Amino acid sequence: MERIYNFSAGPAVLPREVLEQARDELVNWQGCGMSVMEMSHRGKEFMGIAAQAEADLRELMGIPANYKVLFLQGGASTQFAMVPMNLLRGKKSADYLNTGEWSKKAIKEAKRYGAVNVVASSEDKNFSYAPTQDQWQLDKNAAYVHYTPNETIGGVEIFWTPETGEVPLVADMSSTILSRPMDISKFGLIYAGAQKNIGPAGLTIVIVREDLIGEILPGTPTMFDYKIHADNDSMYNTPPTYGIYMAGLVFKWLKAMGGLKAMEQHNVAKAGTLYDYLDTTSFYHCPTARDNRSRMNVPFTLKDAALDEEFLKGAKARGLVQLKGHRSVGGMRASIYNAMPIEGVQLLVDYMKAFEKQHG
Ligand SMILES: *Cc1c(COP(=O)(O)O)cnc(C)c1O
Repeated sequence: MERIYNFSAGPAVLPREVLEQARDELVNWQGCGMSVMEMSHRGKEFMGIAAQAEADLRELMGIPANYKVLFLQGGASTQFAMVPMNLLRGKKSADYLNTGEWSKKAIKEAKRYGAVNVVASSEDKNFSYAPTQDQWQLDKNAAYVHYTPNETIGGVEIFWTPETGEVPLVADMSSTILSRPMDISKFGLIYAGAQKNIGPAGLTIVIVREDLIGEILPGTPTMFDYKIHADNDSMYNTPPTYGIYMAGLVFKWLKAMGGLKAMEQHNVAKAGTLYDYLDTTSFYHCPTARDNRSRMNVPFTLKDAALDEEFLKGAKARGLVQLKGHRSVGGMRASIYNAMPIEGVQLLVDYMKAFEKQHG
């Protein structure tokens, strides 16, 4: 079977070139006689792979020297706890923006460690938009401000960077990291699970400003202390070695594609292809506010939900899979991360048109 177009929200599509290189190197990495999976994480081969991955990520994102890059495990969900454990730093509360299912989970976890001030919420409209900053009630004594620039489930993306003054800004970038350039110096901490836009599941990337780490809550496990990982170059314990290697290949692929500016143009074109069509039809409906239409996750419903199963079946027959929407939104969701080629999006739109013609 030829490769299909995988619109899954995560684990998600990876660049074919990356998979092919990994295949070619699987059994014998660059003539060293073993697989990356079998290497000591402290040996010179793997240390080189990890250092190169970090250097390429720093170059791609323009990460300033006073930020640490950590390769961790536990997914973004572990960061929901690690962020308050490390960044409360003796303060009583943190500010959180509530824009959807992932924000809600981050808030719920943070409440175990301190008070949470929800600065604004879009729950009133089923999380179909993001409140603009003039609607936020920020607390100047907050330990940090947390938000989710791209809500993977609702398909709600925030394209501007919040201004939080002296209060560090923390972002769960799991589903938008590397999709466009960002000014890292505006953030105190960025985290992302790898399985959307970076590589295989199992690796979590944290980018944190140096001066924010080292003051943990009493009782914080050693493995949850950013400073421990920073001081040990993410090798305090065995890191997810193969995930780091794969992420490194993805970073090289992104550089070869022209970096994040080029990737952004690519993503604008892909998302535009889909949204432009959605705007011309009443057969499908996109619930997301125009200013917050995610370039990574595009939810849409059919006019008649009774056609959902048939839509999915027909899509699958054309090699377009994983389009079923999240239960909280219903309908469909097309996740079109960096590695989804424009041909995949074009084929999806062609199919949607044909389906509309048949049933509209
Ligand atoms: C997928 C996702 C998560 C959860 O990631 P895990 O790695 O499964 O813990 C958290 N936040 C956002 C925005 C996500 O897209």
